[in-house]
Amino acid sequence: MVPNIKETYENLNLLFDLVKINKISFKFLSDFKIILMVNGLQTATSSYPCPYCCISLKELRSYSEYHKELRSYGDNTLHFNKFDLIFEKKLKRGNESFSTINKAIFKEEDDVKIFKKCIIPELYLLQRFINHLFFKGLLPLLGKENALKCPKQLHLVTKNYQGELFEGNACRKWLKNAEDLKSKGILVNLEEVYGIPFVVAFNTMNRIVEKCFGSKLLCTLSKLKADMSLLKAVLKGAGVSQTLWSIL
Ligand SMILES: [Zn+2]
Repeated sequence: MVPNIKETYENLNLLFDLVKINKISFKFLSDFKIILMVNGLQTATSSYPCPYCCISLKELRSYSEYHKELRSYGDNTLHFNKFDLIFEKKLKRGNESFSTINKAIFKEEDDVKIFKKCIIPELYLLQRFINHLFFKGLLPLLGKENALKCPKQLHLVTKNYQGELFEGNACRKWLKNAEDLKSKGILVNLEEVYGIPFVVAFNTMNRIVEKCFGSKLLCTLSKLKADMSLLKAVLKGAGVSQTLWSIL
């Protein structure tokens, strides 16, 4: 946000205070690190890592389905007061206050849910999803040379210096054209058994993205849930590391 200033809760609080941001009505969009921070929560690897609900890290990594209360700004105040007054701000007790260790920087009514204020960062999520699946899943499975045929076939280039990052729009293209990896013969023959779950995962994710972030309401919640379950099952079958779920 500001060059050479560390991204900490204290600095963000100061910055938001200086510009008096709470005096206007706005929605907030950022990556998860900052969304957690501005809502007074610990990091994405803490005991309760989701900024939007009170699911635990253990539950998140278990592949099971949980339906958790959505966090509201009122919950946040209650959790912080507990951390402050009862646990005397001892960080190791953060897990007993749903990982809430600071007051949320935003001043919202108690019944406002965090997801209403802090928009789910679509492009950031896509980027994490594709890069994780490709570099931690497909690449070790197929070997570098074979794996790199996939982005080549989809006419995608990696972005950073080491060529190890697909940026947001390239990731969108991955999802939209994942079927080509099968039809154009990239993930066939020997690799097929292993590669196909990835194509299914990309296709399923594509449907989820269209349902969640499109401009029209395309489906019922039950169809979305079915796709989420399918995606979890496919990723589990493909042996993709569970840490991926910390971001979804
Ligand atoms: Zn959640």
